[in-house]
Amino acid sequence: MGESFDIRKWFDKRDNLLVISGPCSVESREQLLTTAAGLSEIDRVKVLRGGIWKPRTRPDAFEGIGEIGLKWMQEAKQRYGFLTMTEVASPEHVELAMRYGIDILWIGARTAVNPFSVQELADCLRGCDIPVFVKNPIAPDLKLWLGAFERLDGAGLKYLGGIHRGFASAEESPYRNEPLWEIPIELLRLRPKTPIITDISHICGCRELLQEVAQKALDMGTIGFMIETHNNPDLALTDSKQQITPESLKNAFKNLTFRKKKVDGDAIVLQNLRKEIDDIDDEILNLIAKRMIVSEKIGDFKKQHKVTVLQMDRWKQVLEHHINKGVGLGLNDESVKEIFEIIHKDSIDRQL
Ligand code: PEP
Ligand code: MN
Repeated sequence: MGESFDIRKWFDKRDNLLVISGPCSVESREQLLTTAAGLSEIDRVKVLRGGIWKPRTRPDAFEGIGEIGLKWMQEAKQRYGFLTMTEVASPEHVELAMRYGIDILWIGARTAVNPFSVQELADCLRGCDIPVFVKNPIAPDLKLWLGAFERLDGAGLKYLGGIHRGFASAEESPYRNEPLWEIPIELLRLRPKTPIITDISHICGCRELLQEVAQKALDMGTIGFMIETHNNPDLALTDSKQQITPESLKNAFKNLTFRKKKVDGDAIVLQNLRKEIDDIDDEILNLIAKRMIVSEKIGDFKKQHKVTVLQMDRWKQVLEHHINKGVGLGLNDESVKEIFEIIHKDSIDRQL
């Protein structure tokens, strides 16, 4: 590894990609140290992660190695100079993690979903200056994620970060957890000072998708990654399908394209295109406002003639027409559907 890495400076500046890697679960001393040795060959990896207590769906699954694993994390830290990071779900976990010199904590997706647990963690962390990352709650509920940050703010924690790990969804999907990129983007808009990194392992759930999702995250401007690695992924006791070897991680980095955050040349071209977009957006807003006025007139007519506001057949026809037209124009059918569902809902509200 290169020179030592100061996580507090990273929180202040966020100039370099923060790469956190290590096993889903710490399983044995040999497994952790072998994985850490592999990771020490990758300059970008500054933080070693390791799950010590695992929140499992079913009670008969491996629930983590417990306290002894913290000793091995400490050993890996001394040997390779990584910062160490683990998941905490209770005050007892926090106390033990701190006792063994863990440098960074994270609150998992299954804990972030529960305000009682988050408050308990916030209370026991009061007055500490340890950095804490909060994974997005499993449910796609931005307010719940925001609320978790607010509880930690309330306890005076200064170094807070978010981990975007995707969201559970009932829809069929190639991902284990649907990325729903708009949620971390909105979190960043509301909390511009909170850095958010991307946990591509839990989004993908399998090795095959990692490269493309990593690229997508970079293109969306991510400033860091959490990626699970294991010296022998096929034998991993948890999340075996999504873990990769440190060697594969090294290769994956070689195949990523890093874009600049800001343009330096040809900025005028971009400015003109942005102006064009702004004008089109203005036009869209004017047209929506115009549409609402017509919609209100229709609402008055329906009231006078005592007909229901929602006319299902008409709505079906309108939607079908717009989707077909949109697809003909090269637009995405789902997006057209969503846009008109929102417009229609607003129209209906105005007619009620
Ligand atoms: C993990 O990082 O191994 C983990 C349990 O993640 P999540 O809380 O995102 O499911
Ligand atoms: Mn995992």
